Amino acid sequence: MIEWRDPKRHLSPTIADAKELSRSIRAQRHASHVDIADGFNTWLPFEVLSWIERLDPNASVALRLAALFCDIDDPVVPETTPQDRRGVQSSQWITPVLSELGFTDLVVERTGFLIAHHDDSAENVERIADTELFQLIAARSLSSISQFPPTEGTDRLHRAVRAMVDKLPEPARTELWEHRLPAPQTDKLKSDVLREYYREHSPRERPYKYCPTCRTVLQRKTTDGTSLLTCLACGFILWNPPVPVTSVIIEKGSSVLLLKRAARPLRDYWCLPGGFIRYLETPEMAAIREVKEETGLDVEINQLAGIYQIDNAPGGVSLDIIWKASVAGGLLQTNEESIEARYFEKATLPELIAYKHRQAIMEH
Ligand SMILES: [Zn+2]
Repeated sequence: MIEWRDPKRHLSPTIADAKELSRSIRAQRHASHVDIADGFNTWLPFEVLSWIERLDPNASVALRLAALFCDIDDPVVPETTPQDRRGVQSSQWITPVLSELGFTDLVVERTGFLIAHHDDSAENVERIADTELFQLIAARSLSSISQFPPTEGTDRLHRAVRAMVDKLPEPARTELWEHRLPAPQTDKLKSDVLREYYREHSPRERPYKYCPTCRTVLQRKTTDGTSLLTCLACGFILWNPPVPVTSVIIEKGSSVLLLKRAARPLRDYWCLPGGFIRYLETPEMAAIREVKEETGLDVEINQLAGIYQIDNAPGGVSLDIIWKASVAGGLLQTNEESIEARYFEKATLPELIAYKHRQAIMEH
């Protein structure tokens, strides 16, 4: 049974410091305990802090403080006017306090932003987008999703996650993909929603704004039933076909070689060695070259395992031509793309496997 609200699991000195800070602000402002409690004593800010620490163990003070004050939209009433139950929003109240206490403009700006993020708009995200803020948005979204118990109902949860995914900036969306949620059902649903999102919004169309032939702004036009970026001046169409890649199943007895990815996207996921096929390469040549680059091994291709559509990666849809091969020489070593290379028994494959590589291994 999963504990849905167990912030103590990740409580760290940083969070304890942050809680102390919130207490001191409360005391300095002589604010009503009950009203403040509405805002601060909900666990969400501390969950966001926990997530920030998971995403970046060396997160800046500004980022951590912004996380602490990210979810204060309940009314807060200072002690001087306890009868005025309308009060003001915590957001209106806490941001000047942060300024008075000498926190940097960055903290104040991010705090204000995250409060706005409750009903955020793309313009808001664009306005002060930077790497740290993406971390914060990712953390906020991860913690919000982790609040949903499985009893929420799939449809409602799907809608909530979809709304979140739609408004995240891209780097945060990738982080959302890479990080696991505590409940397997919720985690699977999150992955399904992201997959649905990337099927609808091809990341490979995003870089193209202008016609590469005549520089006219590209527009969407439906051709053969598919909405495609099209140049209305010269007729150029960005067909955006799936990109061919190739991967290799290298077996040793009943175990198979996997590499743990070092880089985003899908960092820390395991995958088969492989990669993109160069223009004049056959798929076999590309497979042999990629295995050598990534593992140091020389392989002989034995047979085609299958061709798999990769529609579950943030980089866009690919067609993965997967081979079975045996080692003919070389010494196993990794390059900068991988943290680790290891043979796994098929019965005990790791939890995080990228692309369709688990399916390909199990089917062959
Ligand atoms: Zn054109």
